[in-house]
Amino acid sequence: MSNTAFIPISKPSITALEMEKVTAAVRSGWISSLGPFVDGFEKAFAEFCQVEYAVSVSNGTNALHLALVVLGVGLGDEVIIPDLTFVATANAVTYTGARVVCVDVDAQTLVMDPKALEKAITPKTKAIIPVHLYGHPAPMPNILKIARRHNIAVIEDAAEAHGACLDSKPVGVWGDVAIFSFYGNKNFTTGEGGMLVTSQSEINHRARYLRDHAMSGDKRYWHEVVGFNYRMTNLQAALGVAQLERAEEILEKKKNIFKRYHENLSELSGVTLNPVASKNVEPVYWMICFQHNSFTENARNAFMDQLKKEGIDSRPFFYPISMMPMYDYVKAETPVTYAVSVKGLNLPSYVDLSVEEIDKICVVIKKLLQ
Ligand SMILES: *Cc1c(COP(=O)(O)O)cnc(C)c1O
Repeated sequence: MSNTAFIPISKPSITALEMEKVTAAVRSGWISSLGPFVDGFEKAFAEFCQVEYAVSVSNGTNALHLALVVLGVGLGDEVIIPDLTFVATANAVTYTGARVVCVDVDAQTLVMDPKALEKAITPKTKAIIPVHLYGHPAPMPNILKIARRHNIAVIEDAAEAHGACLDSKPVGVWGDVAIFSFYGNKNFTTGEGGMLVTSQSEINHRARYLRDHAMSGDKRYWHEVVGFNYRMTNLQAALGVAQLERAEEILEKKKNIFKRYHENLSELSGVTLNPVASKNVEPVYWMICFQHNSFTENARNAFMDQLKKEGIDSRPFFYPISMMPMYDYVKAETPVTYAVSVKGLNLPSYVDLSVEEIDKICVVIKKLLQ
């Protein structure tokens, strides 16, 4: 490896297995949204998540939108999300006509704080979307207790957390519905793609119906409600089947990447990385999270520029949703979100990152922090 090679933040892991399956899909002529890989991917993913049903869709954002529509969320409703998340969580709510309500996150885990959630519930609250941010599971038992007390539906946004576990149960089994993304930088990728999972047969049926233009089952080209084309193609699913066969390998490699960063950086004063696993919480390491307690937004950005000059890519933490112009109406009191958002960045985290590259990145970080 040359010293001057640029290390990107993210890169999909594509092997001969992916090539073989995608080629088989192309050769078969089943390149659209019917085909054996679609069914195979759905079955394998349902098994992976220990749920009854998995419904493949064209991306994670559409999976969220579909989940909300299936649960009957619409105009006049409120949906509670964490203020620290990718914008898609909020936008999917907006597509339905419902209003976004943002609550704060926990400073250590960066996921929804149940105490803040409880305070944000109103008679209009129709759904709660906890996000398993950067691969760390949200505290689902506490969130579900609150949701059940108020009879509110829960959608897990597990777009970044395939394979993470809580109390030995994977994310995706906890909510009424959960969604996953298979975008190019996610733990498993199909290029673009998403999945809605559930163990409730009514939700499964409704999601399949709406995914395919709400076409009547026994009268073709008859439609009684406005549906969507949110289908995944057999080509994407072929990639997904291969990635899922490699699930253990992929997640293990990401765990080792975190371990190596942790060994190198966790003793540095002022530095915080992703939380380590505990008895009840087994995160996956979608992206390495790096925070320094001395960082202001400018200092963090200057640090990222310096990394780039050294050939190392990075990206800032998400900005608070409530800070963005289109969510100006969201009057959130979310001090933790605002504080961590400016202090945090993600470091190169992809599966094929070598130990030598991680060590090189850490040497540069130590030099920059001196
Ligand atoms: C990636 C992501 C999504 C959206 O998934 P796409 O497949 O990119 O549409 C939703 N929520 C979170 C938290 C994400 O990281």
